[in-house]
Formats: sequence, C-alpha cells, structure tokens
Amino acid sequence: MTVGSDKIDYVFKVVLIGDSAVGKSQILARFARNEFSLDSKATIGVEFQTRTLVIQHKSVKAQIWDTAGQERYRAVTSAYYRGAVGALMVYDITRRQSFDHISRWLEELRNHADRNIVIMLVGNKTDLEDQRAVTTEDAREFAQKENLFFLETSALEATNVENAFQTVLTEIFNIVN
Ligand code: GDP
Ligand code: MG
Repeated sequence: MTVGSDKIDYVFKVVLIGDSAVGKSQILARFARNEFSLDSKATIGVEFQTRTLVIQHKSVKAQIWDTAGQERYRAVTSAYYRGAVGALMVYDITRRQSFDHISRWLEELRNHADRNIVIMLVGNKTDLEDQRAVTTEDAREFAQKENLFFLETSALEATNVENAFQTVLTEIFNIVN
C-alpha cells in the first residue's frame, strides 16, 4: 500500500481544543512529524498540519487544526470548528484547572461544531505521573457520562498519541462508510 503517492479517498478535518499549555501543539507535532519540543512557542496564527494514513485500504488525509493561542474562553472562532468531523479535547493531567475547563470546551464544541462530530477526551503529560492532579477514574467517568472517547497520552514519550488519532479517524471513517 502506497501512501503519499496519488489518490486521496478522504480528507477529515480534526480540531485540537483545550486550555493553553496542555500540549496541543506538541501532540500535533508528534502525530504529524514525530517531533517533540520542550520549549514550544505559543502557536501563532491558525495552523493545520496533515498526515495521510491508510484505513481499511483507503487513503485518508487527516487535516489537524491547532489553535492560534486563542484558548481564552470563547475566543476560538466558529471558522475553526467549521467542517470539523473530529476533535481532540485536551487537558493536562498535572493541572486540575485544565480538566475543570473541559466542560466549557465541550459546550463550545456542541455549540459550533457538527452534531455528529467524533470527540476524544485526552489527558496529556502522563510522563509527569508524580505531579498528577486528575485521576484516570475522574476523567473516564466524565467521558462516559458525556459519551466521549478517552485516552491518556504523553506527547513527550509518544504514548497513545497515534492511538488517539487512529481511534478518532477510524470512527469517522466508519460513520461515513
Ligand atoms: P499548547 O498551548 O496546548 O499548544 O501546549 P504546547 O504543545 O505548546 O505545550 C506546552 C508545554 O508543555 C511545552 O513546554 C511542552 O513542551 C510541554 N508538553 C507538551 N506535551 C507534553 C508531555 O506530554 N509531557 C511533558 N512533560 N511536557 C509536555
Ligand atoms: Mg499551541
């Protein structure tokens, strides 16, 4: 199976949301380029990166959008959400507040995005286990109640990042097929 050659069967727009500094840009860097940086600059300008992968013998181009440092409440514009079929809603497991804000982000999504959007709740920075401030159980319970997928990741150690995107993209694929 050749990827990156000719035919793209699907393009799926996926948005990253969540508080500033939870690791959205590094999750994207890990997924799109297999890179990580400990001193990443705040993202400037709305940006997306793409990666093409194969799902059930079809080539799927994932177009992943990253916020432009507009993570303040209600600063992300509706254009950002437009056409999105998937979302990774990210918090930092070492920062309780970033988890407490997830309900706001979910409300934003439900107000602006397509109602069938596939949503994954992502607890990032599991490499900092000794600083953990949000239990896996609390997050899993929230995800179940709100009907979201849920995974904990480390962009630094490359744990579950691939899995998070694969799960969302495969679910989207199954919905459109
Ligand atoms: P964003 O504002 O949500 O895009 O967050 P960034 O991706 O810019 O990351 C904010 C800070 O957290 C940076 O210093 C990153 O290097 C760091 N960071 C991101 N992901 C991880 C991770 O999985 N583990 C650790 N230890 N640090 C991370
Ligand atoms: Mg960023």
